[in-house]
Amino acid sequence: MAQTTFEEMSASDFFYRNRDIAGFTNSSRAIFVAIREHVENGLDAAERCRIPPDIYVRLSFEAEATKDTQIYKLHVEDNGSGIQPRFIPSAFGQVLYGSKYKLKQTRGTFGLGGKMAVLYGQITTHQAAMVTSSTGESNKIYAFKLMIDIQRNRPIILDRKVQINKDNWHGTIIEFNIEGDYLRAMPKILEYFKQTAMVNPYANITFVDPKGRLYKWIRATKEMPEPPKETLHHPYGVDVELLQRFIMITTATNMSEFLRTHFHRVGGITAQKFLEFCGLKPSLNPKKLSHEEIVKLSQSLKRFKEFLPPDANCLSPLGEDLLRAGIMKELNPEYLVVHQRKPSTYAGHPFVVETGIAYGGGVPKTGGFVLYRFANRIPLLYDEASDVSFRVIGSMNWRRYKVQPEMPIAIVVHICSTKVPYKTVGKEFIADRAEVRREIANDLREVSRQLGHFLTRQEHVKTEKKRLSIFAKY
Ligand code: ADP
Ligand code: MG
Repeated sequence: MAQTTFEEMSASDFFYRNRDIAGFTNSSRAIFVAIREHVENGLDAAERCRIPPDIYVRLSFEAEATKDTQIYKLHVEDNGSGIQPRFIPSAFGQVLYGSKYKLKQTRGTFGLGGKMAVLYGQITTHQAAMVTSSTGESNKIYAFKLMIDIQRNRPIILDRKVQINKDNWHGTIIEFNIEGDYLRAMPKILEYFKQTAMVNPYANITFVDPKGRLYKWIRATKEMPEPPKETLHHPYGVDVELLQRFIMITTATNMSEFLRTHFHRVGGITAQKFLEFCGLKPSLNPKKLSHEEIVKLSQSLKRFKEFLPPDANCLSPLGEDLLRAGIMKELNPEYLVVHQRKPSTYAGHPFVVETGIAYGGGVPKTGGFVLYRFANRIPLLYDEASDVSFRVIGSMNWRRYKVQPEMPIAIVVHICSTKVPYKTVGKEFIADRAEVRREIANDLREVSRQLGHFLTRQEHVKTEKKRLSIFAKY
């Protein structure tokens, strides 16, 4: 009988073979996703040190590749936190390595995006990536020439240079070659920048395309939303695996202290009530829990009704003023109303929904609604019809708000969460979860109601005018 052979696969090898999982489905998507991932890293890095982001992106033509694709050099520069030199190789050359696994809102999630772009560039052009960065704390700028050892999921450092940082520059520049179809990707890329500018109104974004055309989105404000704070896990979102990890690292010597130190919003009284509910002694040492007790604990955590809901300081929604500023700046509508919901939760993850509705003026006239979807300040541009917001809009009774189907109306939905319920790793659309759907629907009803009042007033003014002009005739 034939022998079965077994092998292990590294994370980068997995994503090398399944690159469409991360959005690299074809040569036009690839170039779009590569830009997007590095812009997001730049925005995250600037916001981390509370500096209004300045992002500079340049895509330049290098060579023809195939009939429809070209080799481009992608250059993305930010004025963010920079990275300490010892982390640079892995941050750009090791898949599933990152600094954003903490429990707070960020654009990055998996430690994947930036590297996938570098990896895709490497397998399509066989060239190394250049990363230049400084944290501004030392007077040095570090430059690395890197490739990824895909089979072992390790960075290969081809060269490393140190320069003097005379002007206290801080930030990161990443540069690598990538094969793609820019012409086909162009509309999506420009739309991406426009929408990124809308939901990050405090950012300057510059883009130079392969033809040398310069696009600029200028910030409308230097005001930035409150940064998110790192938080503890909420009891409703904790499972056996996580409990075991807490038990491993805990210094707590009894159950009450254990619950108070590792769980979000659990104080002495709640801990006591919960332990009664669960049937565990408060004095029990968590390290002594049996496997059965851990399973029971995890089940009880989900069933106990008296935990306080998570608070939202691990989130950083834009807020109504900034959302308004962003929409005004990019759409310049005749009428605009925005609204933010109170924080809510699904499966122990806090989230906030904020929406806006814009009418007339610069709102694109497409003969229907234009929907702008955002999650953690990232625009979502693909698979609109599968998104929960699209479904909510489809199920609303718009006549009630005096809205006609052909009116120039833009609807903006932004959801922030420590765990955005994306359906795919490529961050394309938001799953239809009852809790999320309800929040979006309620918020859209709120802004639509106000739009309805505006439209009624407008209609009234119009008929008044008509009446007066008829009088004037006589
Ligand atoms: P993710 O953003 O999901 O964490 P990435 O592969 O995009 O994954 O990036 C990996 C890590 O590298 C980030 O978590 C961050 O710490 C660091 N990083 C990437 N780009 C930058 C940048 N422009 N400035 C500072 N740090 C960065
Ligand atoms: Mg990233």
